[in-house]
This record gives sequence, structure tokens and C-alpha cells, in this order.
Amino acid sequence: MQHTAWMTINMLARLDRVVGSISVVCPSGVALARRISPLIGGAATLSEGIASGAAKIDTVPVVLAAEPADVRLVVGPGDAVDGGIRVYGEGWCGGVARGTAIPKTDPSTLPFGPYIAAAIAVAEVFRAARIDPVLYPPADSAFYSLWSHQAAHTYIAGGPVILPAVTLDETLAGVGAVGCICAHAIWAADCVDGEVLLVDGDMDGIDITNLNRYLLFAHEHIGLPKASTARALLAGSDINWSVHDGPLEEAPGLHRRILCAVDVNEARMAVQTRWPESLLMASTYELRAEVVRCDPRHGGPCARCHNDPEAITPDEELRRQFRAASPKQQQEIAGRHNANLSEVIAWAKTGECGTSGERVRDALRAGQPAPPAFAVPFVSLAAGTMLAAEVVKEHLGAAVPLSPDRQHATLQFWAPAASKGASCYGRDPHCPLCRPESEAVAVWRERVSRQPDRGVA
Ligand SMILES: [Zn+2]
Repeated sequence: MQHTAWMTINMLARLDRVVGSISVVCPSGVALARRISPLIGGAATLSEGIASGAAKIDTVPVVLAAEPADVRLVVGPGDAVDGGIRVYGEGWCGGVARGTAIPKTDPSTLPFGPYIAAAIAVAEVFRAARIDPVLYPPADSAFYSLWSHQAAHTYIAGGPVILPAVTLDETLAGVGAVGCICAHAIWAADCVDGEVLLVDGDMDGIDITNLNRYLLFAHEHIGLPKASTARALLAGSDINWSVHDGPLEEAPGLHRRILCAVDVNEARMAVQTRWPESLLMASTYELRAEVVRCDPRHGGPCARCHNDPEAITPDEELRRQFRAASPKQQQEIAGRHNANLSEVIAWAKTGECGTSGERVRDALRAGQPAPPAFAVPFVSLAAGTMLAAEVVKEHLGAAVPLSPDRQHATLQFWAPAASKGASCYGRDPHCPLCRPESEAVAVWRERVSRQPDRGVA
């Protein structure tokens, strides 16, 4: 429950312009559980931890008192909540229910189900503020299991609630919105140890526009490199973290598996051309989180498949073009794309993203009006948690998806109970990198074949 509560507050407190204020009703004197978040780690009680974590995020006001609110979330199992949403995650599954009870299930300290519950709950808050309720009505109930990659209207049991010892041997490529959560979830899971190399090549480090969805970091980390800051925050578990604050191409000592959490296709190319023995990849697109198991056996994809490298005008050039326009032209461009002029000017001056300025950027880039883009924390929380859960499942030898012939799973927040879950996801026939007859793929297939070919029907 503490994992669910903290991640829910952690996201709501960052949703500036979606959430106006947060009122938290938390029993006093509840001891803070271990490894809920490094942002609240020093506190003795849960309520003190929430207060200190919210102060570090310092965006949406958080008060520890009962106040009237538009949306009421109640964390934990129990009876139907009158006029509110019950939020419960345990083990590998989490979700929400309106107007129905959620029975208690076997207790677990795993963060996976709780993080999924928090993601679906905050998506419902986002829906209330931003999504057309006629097109996409609120979910009565919705649950998703990371063990079986199934969605349903009730809690889905399955998977060990207490882990046996799991010893990792991973490189995490990308410590951004998705990657920092993958690292966070691995850190928060009991019985997980081993070696993880954190790699992030973003030379600008953490910037203020990242904070709305980089749930591991806070204001005090602005300007710092992502990988080594994550390592400093995630000390104090049995995992031996190493870091490389630079591109993957220059990273030393790669481990047997790469966890790919990068968000540009060029970087996915760099991951794939390492031809690792095992490769899991998580990503987000609008309100969809997905995880892919890259495996050349059974017609599966590589990390380059379906991800053409961007042939795009750099941001700096688009910003320069906008700054060079006359004030009248600037006003007209902003109006044409239904963007706020001051936000567009802020983007053109500083590169600030996450505002309506991005719409103008995307439209300038595409030469046509762009669809609205979402950069919201609950989708990256889901994707990062999917990646962490999947790597633990690989170590457990779990004979459940994903597998060499069910390579892909999707959780979407438009109608979460209707998420597709696990499915077959073939290679892109136009992908130049993983042509089955190529020498590189022969080497890759030989490396991948060291793993058991399990789970294939
Ligand atoms: Zn490919």
C-alpha cells in the first residue's frame, strides 16, 4: 500500500496544470516501509515521508489534511468507495474499481502491482481533467497483470508474491522517464541483487522539463547527469550499480542482457548493434506503454524493427526559425496550432518542452498540424515497471509471456481493461538491420540460443 500511495502522490504532485492541489489523508504513526522511494527514505513515518517527498518535488501543493476534492482515491483493498475510486496493487497485478469492492489478496512487498495500480489511478485523474468523457468514458474497474500480461475488470492472481533470490546481470540503456522507473522498481524489489550498469548519454542531464515524468528525481537534481544521479539515489540495496554518463557505444563492461529504455530510434539502433544475448525494450507512445522481447527466433523483431531512425530537423534549428519570425508571424503560427503564444516563445528561447510550444515544434517539423502529444508520468511509470518485471520474470524462468513467440505486450490508458496484453509481434520485413540471412543475425541467433527456448507452443 505504501508503494501504491507514494507513486500515486509522486505523479499527482508533478501534474502541473492538470492537478491543482492534493489533499492526503494518512494515518499518523505508520512506520515507513523499506525502499519506498529515495526521495522519502530518511523519514520515520509514512506521513513525514510524503510531506518531505512532496516538498522536494515542489510543484503541485500537497497538504496532509482532509479537504474537498474533485477526485477521491482510496488506496488498499476493501469495500466499494462511495463516489470515489479504490486503488489496489499487490504482487504482479494492480488496478482500480469504482462502485465495487476489491478483495484483499496474498500480501507481497513487490512494487510491480502497486506501481501499475498507481499508473491506472492517476490516468483516471488525468482522464477527468483532460480526456473527452464521451469518447473515452471512465473505467468502472480495470486491472493489469505483469505476470500474465492480461487485462481484466477484477484482480488477476498469478506469479510468486515472494521472490526467490534473483541475481541480475544487466545493462540499462537510458535513465530517462522509463529507465529511471525500471531502476527504481528493481531497487524496490526484495531479494534482487547482482550487477546493473546504468548508461545515459544525455549530456544536458536532468532538466526542469523532465521532472513531470522522471519520478526518481526532484528539483535538487536539475543539471546533474542521469545515470550517476540514479546510482547515488539507489544506493542501499543489494544491487551493485555501475554507471556510464555517456553514449552506449562507449560504455564499458556490457552485461549479458540489455534493458532498452531509450526514447529515440537512433539510440535503439546503438542498442541493437551490440547484438546482446538477451534484449528487452520498453517504450511509450501517447497513452500506451509497451514492452518488447527482441529475439530473432520464431520471426521476432530487433530493436530497430518498426522504429525508423528520425530524419528530423534538430530542435535548435526549429527554435531559431521561430525566433527569426516577426511577432505577427509568431502570433499567427501559435494561433494556427492552438498553442499558447507565451509557451511557444518560452520553448523557442529555452527549449522548454511539455507545453503547447511542443505542438508548434512538432507541426513545424512535420510541415503539417501535429496530433496532440502526451508526456505524462503514468505511461512511463507503466513502461518502466513492465521492463523491470519482465527482467525478473526472465531470471525466474517463468513460462509465461513474454516468450520467443509472444514478443510484445501493451497496456493502454484510454480503456485500460481492454488492453491487448501479450501478442505475437513479428520482425519488420523492411528492417535493414536484422535480415534473417545476414551474418550479424547469425551471430545474434547463436548468442540468443544460449537461453532456453521456453514458452513456445
Ligand atoms: Zn529489425
